[in-house]
Amino acid sequence: MYELVVIGCGPAGLAAAFFAVRQRMRVAVVGREIGGQAIHSVHVENYLGFEGIAGEALVDRFTRQLAEQFVEYL
Ligand SMILES: Cc1cc2nc3c(=O)[nH]c(=O)nc-3n(C[C@H](O)[C@H](O)[C@H](O)COP(=O)(O)OP(=O)(O)OC[C@H]3O[C@@H](n4cnc5c(N)ncnc54)[C@H](O)[C@@H]3O)c2cc1C
Repeated sequence: MYELVVIGCGPAGLAAAFFAVRQRMRVAVVGREIGGQAIHSVHVENYLGFEGIAGEALVDRFTRQLAEQFVEYL
């Protein structure tokens, strides 16, 4: 049983899941392509904290951070 099911696993959905799980909610994420459009970005230059990062590397960081937070993917 989940308290929140997030539809879509782009940056917005993953961020929503991250915030909710930090509030101790049982969270699942539904989506086909983890990272959404961001995975297709060759080079992201406007993400705070990074002077430049490949979209794929950024998404890899998202998923690694979420992997420690008990989010389930459906
Ligand atoms: C080639 C490219 C380069 C880009 N470069 C930059 C950049 O440099 N800087 C920048 O700021 N932005 C960039 N963007 C835009 C950025 O990637 C998007 O603004 C961002 O990904 C939006 O995040 P989101 O989570 O709102 O939506 P999305 O990334 O669109 O994610 C939505 C997710 O929901 C899923 N979904 C949709 N409908 C359903 C459904 N009914 N059921 C289940 N799943 C569903 C989709 O499959 C997807 O995984 C780029 C985009 C592209 C395509």
